[in-house]
Amino acid sequence: MPREPGSRRLMWVLLVMAILLALVFAGSVAWRSPGDYLPWIDGGAYTGVILLAALIAVLRAGRGGPQGPGWGLLATGMILYALGEVWWAVAGRFREEIVWLPLEDALWLAYYPVQVLALWLLMGKAPRRDRNLLDALVLSGGLLVTLAVLLQGWRPGTAAAEEGLVVAGLYVTGDLILMVLALLLAYVQRWRVSPGWWLIALGYLIFALSDSLYWVLSAYDAYVEGTWVDIGWLLSSLALAGAAILGLEALPPPQVQSLRGMVPAAIAVMLSGLALGWGPEGAFGDFARYAAIATLALALFRLNYAIRDAAEANEQRRRALIDDLTGLPNRHALHALPELPGKALASPTGWCLVALGLDRFADINASLGHERGDRLLALTAERLGGCLGPGDVLARLEGDEFAMLMRLADPSQTFAGAERLRAALEQPFEIDGVPVALTACMGVSATLDPVPAIGPLLKEADLAMHHAKREGPGLIRAYSGQEAPSSVHRLRMRARLRADFQDGGAAFELHYQPIVRIDNSALLAMEALVRWRQDGALVPPGQFLGEIEHAGLMVPLTTLVLHRAIAAIHRQGQGHAVTVNVSPELVTPWLLDQVRDALDRAGAPAHSLIVEVTEDALIRNPDTANEVLRALRVQGVRVLLDDFGAGWCGLSAVRDLAVDGLKIDRAFVARIHRDLPTRAITGSIVNLGRDLGLTVIGEGVEDAGEQAELEALGVEWVQGFAYAKPMPETALADYLSHHPPT
Ligand code: C2E
Ligand code: MG
Ligand code: MG
Repeated sequence: MPREPGSRRLMWVLLVMAILLALVFAGSVAWRSPGDYLPWIDGGAYTGVILLAALIAVLRAGRGGPQGPGWGLLATGMILYALGEVWWAVAGRFREEIVWLPLEDALWLAYYPVQVLALWLLMGKAPRRDRNLLDALVLSGGLLVTLAVLLQGWRPGTAAAEEGLVVAGLYVTGDLILMVLALLLAYVQRWRVSPGWWLIALGYLIFALSDSLYWVLSAYDAYVEGTWVDIGWLLSSLALAGAAILGLEALPPPQVQSLRGMVPAAIAVMLSGLALGWGPEGAFGDFARYAAIATLALALFRLNYAIRDAAEANEQRRRALIDDLTGLPNRHALHALPELPGKALASPTGWCLVALGLDRFADINASLGHERGDRLLALTAERLGGCLGPGDVLARLEGDEFAMLMRLADPSQTFAGAERLRAALEQPFEIDGVPVALTACMGVSATLDPVPAIGPLLKEADLAMHHAKREGPGLIRAYSGQEAPSSVHRLRMRARLRADFQDGGAAFELHYQPIVRIDNSALLAMEALVRWRQDGALVPPGQFLGEIEHAGLMVPLTTLVLHRAIAAIHRQGQGHAVTVNVSPELVTPWLLDQVRDALDRAGAPAHSLIVEVTEDALIRNPDTANEVLRALRVQGVRVLLDDFGAGWCGLSAVRDLAVDGLKIDRAFVARIHRDLPTRAITGSIVNLGRDLGLTVIGEGVEDAGEQAELEALGVEWVQGFAYAKPMPETALADYLSHHPPT
């Protein structure tokens, strides 16, 4: 058994002494005849119990800790109380004339504010303990009024000593405040308070009962010293001493916020109102009236707090549901939508939910800076909001992802909403005078239920959106139930990819797509595009490159493509060039070695290779990337900036880049004859490229219309289905023989 600290053992000894003294007093009550005053017992033993209890509290305070000051004050209160007893014994009880508030009463009354302060400190730094105190004041006021009215009803008529009655009433007031405060704190802790706290509450309860009894008796001049009533006061001191020995555990933060605001005040107001309506009379009646008025005033004061608390709670709730940046509902709000009161969320023809993720927003953010990125998001939110019909909801899920819950007027038109959103984004945004083009991938899910189940709908739309993202920018996909590439599926895919590399990479095939000159079909280069053969089918790169990256297989893949592509084009022996896509993270000195090695092995000249990099490479690590590209060009290898305009490099940044040409992203080409601003931006890209002496290539040209537009803007080189789809190596010889290199 661990040894008890010395002070604690002393506390127990003092408590036993106090109990013995209390027993002596109780014994004397039993044996003496009423009205006898026994100075050694009534003055000595009685005061001794209180002083011993106070001493125990002093010892507890001496042990320090955060509750030390609280115990110190509690002890101070008890000492004041004991001093009152002493003064009564030596002076008060011999006084002939009636004095209003003699010293002993003043000392006894001083006990209360000190005790309230002690409890306040013992409560610790519980948030909103000022509310708790106010609630205790109001509620005890209500109880006091009730008690006064009941006492008046019990013995109507005039009470004897009015002054004494008022003072005795003040004791009861103080007791009730202490008792209610202790119980209220237990309540806000959901009654999970330590035994020490219960002893404190019990002590105050006994005190309140004794004082109430004293109140009645003294009002009718029926109180006699040295009777059982006095024992109540002693028991109360013993309970407080017990609490000091047990100590209080640190209180957890309250679970219930101060009795749900106004409940105690409401009860108190009701009681006070009833009391006043009863028409209190006589001395108790007066007391009841004043107490009722004070209680009502306090309740009014409490109302002020309650209003502030309610406003704060509302604001917190609002913040939890509203996205700060855009002012739109957030993901939580979207989920909570069907339960929100007053939102009649019903559509007889069903709903569709569009999950929208902006493409490459991380890069845009990185190059624009976060502040501008935020503004861009806010502008996007505004535009998307313009596409909503009445009763539709737009929410920001997180980062660059939004969701639109739209009423489905015609269930066969699931895509209509998403198309509207896409159209709204087509116009470039303007941030500080600079146009910024945004595209987004969207996933659509739909339900015919009149009230939508947001959870599953959102999950489906989200899956479809991520599926679209894997295929390419600007795509809309409907949820089909097939897209969930479960983690198991993806792990399996990675394992197969890894195995296929270990087998020498025969499962990877290169297809080649030409980049040609519009006016004479001369060939700039063939672009090598990788495919993965799986169970007889060819998997496009959009579906497996992500896994390659996650599996850390980008290095072997790029090595494989570089070697094979250079070898394949060189084998044709006609001086053609091939372009190879290099992912951003590989634009490092490693690339220089690989390129040299691949060219050496094939015995091919440097000008037979063109490297394609995207803006990402230059945004992520501009210095290294630029150095590597420069070194490549020194070797004689050319460099093209792929998917230009889709990321955000900024036109002016191109000036400083070590590149030979730009490939204008298909997102621009596809919109060029529908959208004036896109046309304008494309025009300025072409002009800038020409001024810098760069080769400008239009990517993904699908028809003669797009070609004509590009040509009108001054684009000389194109690539796209309009000229040739990517072809297998077997078709290479035939194609190249008809298209001379430049
Ligand atoms: P990319 O480098 O921009 O390649 C052009 C993509 O556009 C190719 O898709 C091509 O088939 C497609 N395309 C060409 N003409 C048209 C057209 O007229 N209309 C439309 N809608 N599309 C057209 P693919 O082969 O699926 O490749 C997708 C992307 O995968 C490539 O975009 C490239 O970023 C990446 N990729 C392909 N092969 C490799 C590789 O060996 N290494 C790396 N790191 N990435 C590669
Ligand atoms: Mg490319
Ligand atoms: Mg491209």
